[in-house]
Parts: sequence; structure tokens; C-alpha cells
Amino acid sequence: MRIKRLRLTGFKSFVDPADLRIEPGLTGVVGPNGCGKSNLLEALRWTMGENSARSMRGAGMEDVIFAGTASRPPRDFAEVALLAERDGPDGPEESEIVRRIERGAGSAYRIDGRDVRARDVQLLFADAATGAHSPALVSQNRIGAVIAARPVERRAMLEEAAGIAGLHVRRKDAETR
Ligand code: ATP
Ligand code: MG
Repeated sequence: MRIKRLRLTGFKSFVDPADLRIEPGLTGVVGPNGCGKSNLLEALRWTMGENSARSMRGAGMEDVIFAGTASRPPRDFAEVALLAERDGPDGPEESEIVRRIERGAGSAYRIDGRDVRARDVQLLFADAATGAHSPALVSQNRIGAVIAARPVERRAMLEEAAGIAGLHVRRKDAETR
């Protein structure tokens, strides 16, 4: 799956609509501290169905809505749309996935304009071997945790990322037979 475009409105520091085209190849996001680099990655994870406010660095999920500044009033909603391309039987297929949150009303999801459940969006990305909890997305604080971890913990993280954590359980099981 390739993410081709990301559109944000009212998401965290992106109060004005921002439309980013993601070209093939490696993409780098650069800018001074606090300019919104991590917010962009969080917007991606959020649209993929992230439901932990803490991992979005907030106390509640509504904290992703633009909270206002000295010169700008807060917003009532946040919306992020991402355009994903997948290989289908007849060539590349595009889907637009949208998540929107309104103060007091919670989140709503759409795939190609149809209302869907969070689960449908999570499954769409899981089927493409990616998603909000995929080891392909590593947050800033997680990098620190990997570096600071004791060797045995670090090994557990790497095994989790490699998708082989379950094999150990099966091996132990086999050895005791
Ligand atoms: P660094 O280089 O330090 O990692 P960064 O580019 O990753 O910085 P972010 O963490 O993405 O920066 O952005 C932080 C900024 O986003 C802060 O200025 C913070 O006030 C702002 N921000 C976060 N949530 C909201 C919100 N709900 N409303 C308005 N601004 C927000
Ligand atoms: Mg950051």
C-alpha cells in the first residue's frame, strides 16, 4: 500500500487546511522544533484508526482538535483524509480514508465516501500489513525506549516488530512435550 496524499483540517497545529502530496520514494519531513513534524505522523496513525489518546500525546481524543492560540480561536472539529493506493487484480486501486472528530460527538470514519466503523478502517490497513500499531510506525519516544532498554527488553521489542514473538511460546510448548 502506498500513501499518496494527506489532507488535514483542524488537526493539532494544522488549523488551516494542509494538503500534502507524498511522492514515490523516501520522504523526509524537516523543520524546527515544534513545527508539527510529529503531528503529521500522528495524523497518519490517527486516520488508520488509532484509539489511544495517550499515544497521540493527549489526555482525551478531542485533544487532537486545534485548541486555539493567542490569535486564533479553537476549532470544533478535526478531519484528516488520506489517499491510499493498493495493487488490485486490474491494476492500482485508490481509496480515500477519512476520519473526523467533533467536540462532544466522537469520531466518524468514511472509506470512499461511505460511512464505516473504526474496525473497517483498522482491517483495511491490517490487510495491507500496516496500520496504527504496525512496527513500520515508530514514534519519537519509542526510539528513546529502544535505546534505553536492557538487552533482554530490546530483544523482546525486536521480536515483536519482526512478528516472531508468538514462535517462542510455541517452542516452549513443544520442548515440554
Ligand atoms: P520536535 O522537532 O521537537 O520533535 P515537531 O516538529 O515534531 O517538534 P510537534 O510535536 O509535531 O513538533 O508539534 C508540536 C506543536 O503542536 C506544539 O507547538 C503544540 O502546541 C502544537 N499542538 C499540539 N496539539 C495541538 C492542538 N490540539 N492545538 C493546537 N496546537 C497543538
Ligand atoms: Mg517531533
